[in-house]
Amino acid sequence: MRKNIVAGNWKMHKNHTETLALLEDIIAQKQETATEIVVAPTFVNLKAAVDQVTGKNITVAAQNMHQAEGGAFTGEIAASMLTDIGVQTVILGHSERRAYFHETDALLASKVDTALKHEMRVIFCFGEELKDRQKNNHFNIVEYQLRDALFHLKKEDWKSIILAYEPVWAIGTGETASPEQAQEMHQFIRELIAKVYGTEVADNVSILYGGSVKPDNAKEIFSKPDVDGGLIGGASLKAADFLAIVNAF
Ligand code: PEP
Repeated sequence: MRKNIVAGNWKMHKNHTETLALLEDIIAQKQETATEIVVAPTFVNLKAAVDQVTGKNITVAAQNMHQAEGGAFTGEIAASMLTDIGVQTVILGHSERRAYFHETDALLASKVDTALKHEMRVIFCFGEELKDRQKNNHFNIVEYQLRDALFHLKKEDWKSIILAYEPVWAIGTGETASPEQAQEMHQFIRELIAKVYGTEVADNVSILYGGSVKPDNAKEIFSKPDVDGGLIGGASLKAADFLAIVNAF
């Protein structure tokens, strides 16, 4: 049975002191659902975050990683460095990585392979841009993103994959896909996975929605049958808002 997951992507926000304070605030909030909570602080704060959440219902994720095992890649972080400090989950393919760091689906396919080799869980982000939706090309774009980055995987690999559909036009803009638009795309994704991998894989994969999810719209979005949670940017930086979203199931 697939899990409900709410993940907070903290992006390049929160220094060390602020990271610890925000985690303390999150831990102090009352969780009323069985939803898994994931937080993704910056690389330099991952180890402190892992130490702080030990024994709590919170998973720490990295926001990115390099595809190589190690070597002369100045400024980069290897999967083994993450797992060594207790980070077992990584966000890959966020639209900001695609737009500003030119990450392609071919590159992401190799990052996914490396993460799985290290027995990490991947939160794989994808989604169309506004121009794609205006041309009614959004289903095609999403299908090709998934085919190119993930459909080389074996059936059993899918237990380590979490999908995050994030329409680029809804990220950080205040513009949210309507619950119906989210459901329509999530259902399309699940049917596509069922065609390629069978219904068992499709029924068990968690598909998160991301794009301006807030306490006041989370309940309606999460009520849709194929929406299994959210990847949250802005609203994950305030503990009360983040927990209100976690509790929206
Ligand atoms: C994101 O960056 O993944 C995101 C969904 O951001 P926001 O919630 O701020 O739109």
